[in-house]
Amino acid sequence: MQTIETLLELLGEVQDLTAASALLEWDQETYMPPKAAAARAQQLASLAGIAHEKLTSPEIGALLGRLREARGLSEDEQALVRETARDHDRARKLPRELVQALARAQSEALHVWTEAKQASRFEPFAPHLERLIALKQEVARHLGFAEVPYDALIDDHELGATTRSVAALFAKLAPELVSLLRAIQASPVPIDARCVQASFAEDAQIEFALDVARAMGFDLEAGRLDRSAHPFCTAFHPTDVRLTTRFGEHDLRPALFGVIHEAGHGLYEQGLDVAWSRTPLGHPASLGIHESQSRLWENIVARSLPFWRHFFPKLKAKFAAQLEPVTLEQFYRAINQVRPSLIRVEADEVTYNLHIILRFELEQQLFAGTLQVRDLPSAWNRRMQQWLGVEPPSDKEGVLQDIHWAMGAFGYFPTYTLGNVYAAQLFERAQQDLAGLEQGIARGELTPLRDWLRERVHRQGRRYPPAQLIERATGQAPSHEPFVRYLRAKFGAIYRL
Ligand code: ZN
Repeated sequence: MQTIETLLELLGEVQDLTAASALLEWDQETYMPPKAAAARAQQLASLAGIAHEKLTSPEIGALLGRLREARGLSEDEQALVRETARDHDRARKLPRELVQALARAQSEALHVWTEAKQASRFEPFAPHLERLIALKQEVARHLGFAEVPYDALIDDHELGATTRSVAALFAKLAPELVSLLRAIQASPVPIDARCVQASFAEDAQIEFALDVARAMGFDLEAGRLDRSAHPFCTAFHPTDVRLTTRFGEHDLRPALFGVIHEAGHGLYEQGLDVAWSRTPLGHPASLGIHESQSRLWENIVARSLPFWRHFFPKLKAKFAAQLEPVTLEQFYRAINQVRPSLIRVEADEVTYNLHIILRFELEQQLFAGTLQVRDLPSAWNRRMQQWLGVEPPSDKEGVLQDIHWAMGAFGYFPTYTLGNVYAAQLFERAQQDLAGLEQGIARGELTPLRDWLRERVHRQGRRYPPAQLIERATGQAPSHEPFVRYLRAKFGAIYRL
């Protein structure tokens, strides 16, 4: 049909511009010389402006209008029209001045936050955070919401999720996590993580991490790994997926599990349907689904005993001096130590979600106006004490630790815990579908799992909203129960509960 073809052509241009921006952003985080920052910001703003203009053009609007009425569209084409209309409508709802004001405020806030964090001083950052919250309130009003403005921000990251639905899930999850944590803290089983806290050569760390990524089925002919201050994964096409990592000087874990995490994201991007890659349909379903892929590989697979039955001898061969006296069992326990800590990105699988619940509660209060920005540091410290029993000695290790708020990314944090919840549910189903999955993992055979995920999740792109995608993949609506079962079984064994 002529109309669809015209639409595909126009969407292809939008996608190419977006991919070019993403490449410039990747370069900015990896190789760009520092003096290029101002010029790069301009280049990115120009490209974003052109892409926005194209996406919101009356031409696309008219095509969508005609296609919404059209008969005889295939299921994929109907999904394409629906998802394109969603992007088009969303982009049109936000006035240009608001988008520009937000971009400016974000870039200023990010700059101030970097210095505020370094100096561990919240006050200079406070007015910027207030401004971002005010602008995001305005964004929410333009986008529309079910009950409260914060709903619009959650929905923006996880289509179909609301404050109420996330709060209901967290209300079931939190008591389970707290009771498991109490039991672990009461356990007399000692865990010593010092064996992974030696000095490990960077090159050898890269080699090993890439071996694991290859075993996972990550295609290094369609992707690469570089260094950056903050690890991330970005993709310009399923045939061009970039991973980055950083290195712990005296700790094996940040780079090793960081690369596996990002490679999990990368497998999702490489597994998207190439036939639709220049359209919204060929994009990931949501941040929560994306995070489910990284966490499934990082935690459920790569922090499991079967995985290390295969990989520990190889790791030991690379780092003979450091790991010579360490047994598989000691190593497995060291990488799974549970201990309440201050920093979210360093948290273990049990306490991690308490960090998220804390942020979710504070964001809700900030957007409801029941918490003022100036009172945020003390509210943060109180809740750290309440949820984790630790008190940050400084704002640097407390309220200033994450970049998200400085980027205006409110409603983003809940997707991390949704990712953990989806990951456990997907893996539980994969275990039922793939006989001998764990025995295979213990032989280093990881691609059957990758193929199962590719079929059920990756290739679906944006055909279904996240909750529906999980239900189609697993036969069950999203639930906290598989995740709780997984944590109880794993840490029950480790801590002999
Ligand atoms: Zn991630």
